[in-house]
Amino acid sequence: MKYISTRGEAPALNFEEVLLTGLASDGGLYVPEHLPTFSREEIAEMAGMDYPQLAGKIITPFVDDCIPADDLKEILNETYAEFRHNAVAPLVQIDANQWVLELFHGPTLAFKDFALQLLGRLLDYVLERKHQKVVIMGATSGDTGSAAIEGCKRCHNIDIFILHPHQRVSEVQRRQMTTVAGDNIHNLAVAGNFDDCQAMVKASFGDRSFLPEDRSLVAVNSINWARIMAQIVYYFYAAVALGAPARPVAFSVPTGNFGDIFAGYLARQMGLPVEQLIIATNRNDVLHRALTTNTYGRQSLEHTLSPSMDITVSSNFERLLFDLYQRDGAAIADLMRRFDHGDIDFNAAAMEQARSLFSSQCVSDEETCLQIANTWQECEYLLDPHSAIGVKAALESGLPPEVPVVTLATAHPAKFPDAIKAAIAGHEVSLPLHLSDLFSREERFSVLPNELAAVQAFMTENINA
Ligand SMILES: *Cc1c(COP(=O)(O)O)cnc(C)c1O
Repeated sequence: MKYISTRGEAPALNFEEVLLTGLASDGGLYVPEHLPTFSREEIAEMAGMDYPQLAGKIITPFVDDCIPADDLKEILNETYAEFRHNAVAPLVQIDANQWVLELFHGPTLAFKDFALQLLGRLLDYVLERKHQKVVIMGATSGDTGSAAIEGCKRCHNIDIFILHPHQRVSEVQRRQMTTVAGDNIHNLAVAGNFDDCQAMVKASFGDRSFLPEDRSLVAVNSINWARIMAQIVYYFYAAVALGAPARPVAFSVPTGNFGDIFAGYLARQMGLPVEQLIIATNRNDVLHRALTTNTYGRQSLEHTLSPSMDITVSSNFERLLFDLYQRDGAAIADLMRRFDHGDIDFNAAAMEQARSLFSSQCVSDEETCLQIANTWQECEYLLDPHSAIGVKAALESGLPPEVPVVTLATAHPAKFPDAIKAAIAGHEVSLPLHLSDLFSREERFSVLPNELAAVQAFMTENINA
């Protein structure tokens, strides 16, 4: 399996190479040159497979001969043993034809564990084999940082540096990062905001000369192909449980960077009968505007009750555009160049195809709270604010009653206690048992000035031999 860049100028890579790469050298994102497909018979045979087994089936063609089958199997078994539900991704019914796919039973209570638990292990496996060590650097305003740290904490060949804006992430989110013990884990609280942190990461990827010569820099944000790949699995898992391939299902996906829903699009391209993919956004609705008005443009960031979806641009959207433009890398490079300077629109054929594949809904904070309260009243099921946006969009989708709609529940409600309290007056939600001592665990982080040189100096001093 070869991977090619959406902008057509970077060299094609194999799986191992794409794992160790972030952005392509031409500024594009890597995608598989050809997608594997599964026949109806093959999909029918997936019924009853446990999660790691199914993951092996879906992921093997992407990994190709880069990892021997037995080793991959072991990695997948270990990865999904970390989840605290035997079903790994259980389905819960909340209304006549509405289902919730709970993706929050991993160590950090958000769906990002599905990809980052696997990514950490895959990286460590290939690095061990190559006798190579790397540095991971990332900026976080919340969920990604803790999931990346949990995913890498046992990786001997990785030093991970996660920057967060000092005193600007929630206490639960900070503690999920800073209470993980390990010499290779470095939490940096930067005296600035999230954009400052992100700018430092970007600058460091642009000029890596501050690093020792034997270390390369790896990205763990959702431009990393392996993250998308891992997320394809649960679309098959849920659809097959609800009767695919005989019965098509729809998915409603709380969307920020378009990584999660792009995996759903790939599942459909791989043969899974998907009736509809619903892009559910909060007030930061760049994708909803693109689909409804054919204007793709940045607006200023709004802070909402669903902070993990507070984005102005969805970087993975470029991967879809590549397909919508018949995989014409030069056309995508041109679009993105124009997008750097202002709003763009898409050609009629691309728009028509996008609208046939996706629908979209934008959900306000008020509607989010109402949905949390309504679902609680109707079936005593507690949604987190991100998942509530998904359920609201699912209920508004207007799909025929015979189509089951699955909302991806991307976070556990205990991660967002203030939003829950606001939605259901005074309702307290407690952390799951394995995190119940989170507030008494010892924290480790370093507060650093908002200066690139200080951050980079800290990194070079703290990289393990
Ligand atoms: C990251 C995240 C999202 C958005 O996922 P994308 O892949 O960026 O679209 C939604 N909900 C939660 C809880 C998240 O952490």
